[in-house]
Amino acid sequence: MKYIFVTGGVISSLGKGLTAASLGTLLENRGLKVSLQKFDPYLNVDPGTMSPFQHGEVYVLDDGAETDLDLGHYERFTNVQLTRLNNLTSGQVYQTVLNNEREGKYLGKTVQVIPHVTDEIKKRMHVLGEKSGADVIITEIGGTTGDIEGLPFLEAIREFALEVGPTNAIFVHVTFVPFIKAAGELKSKPTQQSVAKLREIGIAPHIVVCRCEKPLGKEVREKISLFCNVPFEAVVEEKDVDHTIYEVPLMLQRERVDDLVCNLLRLDTPPAKMAHWQEIVRKLIAPQHRVRIGVVGKYIELQDAYKSVYEAISHGGIANDCGVEIQRVDAEDIERDGAEKHLKGLGGILVPGGFGERGIEGKIAAARYARENLVPYLGLCLGMQIATIEFARNVLKLAKAHSTEFDPNTPHPVIAMLDSQTKVTNKGGTMRLGAQPCQLAVGTKTAQLYGAFVIKERHRHRYEFNNAYRELFQKADFGFSGQTPDGRLVEIIELANHPFFIASQFHPEFRSKPHLPHPLFTGFIAAAHAHTHQKPV
Ligand code: GLN
Repeated sequence: MKYIFVTGGVISSLGKGLTAASLGTLLENRGLKVSLQKFDPYLNVDPGTMSPFQHGEVYVLDDGAETDLDLGHYERFTNVQLTRLNNLTSGQVYQTVLNNEREGKYLGKTVQVIPHVTDEIKKRMHVLGEKSGADVIITEIGGTTGDIEGLPFLEAIREFALEVGPTNAIFVHVTFVPFIKAAGELKSKPTQQSVAKLREIGIAPHIVVCRCEKPLGKEVREKISLFCNVPFEAVVEEKDVDHTIYEVPLMLQRERVDDLVCNLLRLDTPPAKMAHWQEIVRKLIAPQHRVRIGVVGKYIELQDAYKSVYEAISHGGIANDCGVEIQRVDAEDIERDGAEKHLKGLGGILVPGGFGERGIEGKIAAARYARENLVPYLGLCLGMQIATIEFARNVLKLAKAHSTEFDPNTPHPVIAMLDSQTKVTNKGGTMRLGAQPCQLAVGTKTAQLYGAFVIKERHRHRYEFNNAYRELFQKADFGFSGQTPDGRLVEIIELANHPFFIASQFHPEFRSKPHLPHPLFTGFIAAAHAHTHQKPV
């Protein structure tokens, strides 16, 4: 088994995750089985308890693990099936070590960062190695070289690489080469210093990937090669992409990173077949059609809060050869100005997941606008609950209908917590989480889009459609197109008298890939395109 460790230097937000994922794309398309893993140095056991302001989106896996959003890149860029083993935090490591200590597993010894914490990290790597059966495991170390909290992980990968031998593990350092306007030059010093910092702790990178705004040029490459002690061809340029993140694998292929990696790791494979990927990028850069989609949320100003949603929308665009311009609409702006002002002229309206009361009335107004004006609507998790509340209030005339999350005393709790959830007191990892089966109803638009009757989708929520109201809704043409196989929970709703009004209690966005766009997003964008051009769906 071969290992690639990806570290980051100089600054955060360099796109290490994208680089690791893109490497995964290339290796997979060379016929290798890859797996990707992320180490997060923070002390939270998982990011599930963090606000999107802290952390961006929480990405949910099939097995219910709440993980770092980089795992979303990993799954979108490859075909790997990730599990909770693929995201390790310091919190998890310390929790295990401390439990071991209490159980007496280190009896007689002083428990220390080296070797107890580092051994636990290495153990987790071996477990992933065995379980994944991959040829290559790409491990991204979160944070930036020089961070105190990242040190145990760096020490662990140093030891690990030594143990598995030089042709079985390599280090890729992603760094920043800033362009200084006043000098009109790219500067390599920060890169030199961050590599020096790594070498201080015994890690000598084999490849230095340079994030930059302008091409590196021969001179800068030579300088980095000399000072960072890597061959000239191992200084890789990763310039800001012009159009889409899906260009990154193609860019790295042009820089021959995958050849380099395969040589270093003695992997004998044919070149990566990337024709399908080029076609994906072509559709994103020069699509045949265009459409505008409004995403109504409360973390609109944050780039990362709805990451998978934005990506899945663009995948729906790929499936329809349709460029999608996403208009981010702050739900509170709708509360202030009314829906029309912010939503008029859009091809489709999407309300994503969310927690907490802020902006709820704005989202309800958005759903109402979509329903009444026959604008395609896709609701995701909270977006489904919102659509339900809106319908109850404005069609069923249950004026004060609400979710008990926002109004515990509502006379019409159309969305409410399951009994099993009301007893939960711990916050971490206790929602309804992960992939669960869903049965689709014959003759519905949803089943037609999926082309199947049993599907599996990922969940992350506590509240559900309240079954006491099912009949009332059904009579008013509010259809239940998906339910749990035992029929007890509503999973998908759709409106019969509307060109496209579908909302799911689960998160389809976590299952969409550029090469496998999710059917709900494909259908949504097709409907949005038809709406824009006033064609029948
Ligand atoms: N807050 C809602 C719930 O807990 C929706 C969650 C979500 O959108 N992920 O059920």
